[in-house]
This record gives sequence, structure tokens and C-alpha cells, in this order.
Amino acid sequence: MAEKACKRCRRLVKGNMCPACKDSELTKNWRGVLVIFDPESEIAKEAGITAPGKYAVKIK
Ligand SMILES: [Zn+2]
Repeated sequence: MAEKACKRCRRLVKGNMCPACKDSELTKNWRGVLVIFDPESEIAKEAGITAPGKYAVKIK
């Protein structure tokens, strides 16, 4: 099953609701995978990500 990306936080979601936002605003139109292990890292800060997980780099 293809993952969808949350339009709010860009987290990749397998179900129909983002577990972080409790939101069902998901899209299949996303590109690139960003895996965040450390939310304190520069990459996470630059991307505005505050929790570890898999995220889409771009959402259309
Ligand atoms: Zn979300």
C-alpha cells in the first residue's frame, strides 16, 4: 500500500489519519522521503520537524 503524506506536517502515513495531527488531510502527491531520527538535528530544524519519523520532502 502506498503511503500518503499529511498536508499539515508532511509525515508519511499508512492509514487514513495522521497520528500526529489527528487529521485526515492526506495526499498521494508527494515526493522524496526524509527520515528524521533526531528532531534536534539541523536537518529537522531546517525542515521544521519536531518529532522523529518519515516525512515527505515535497508536497504538491
Ligand atoms: Zn500531520
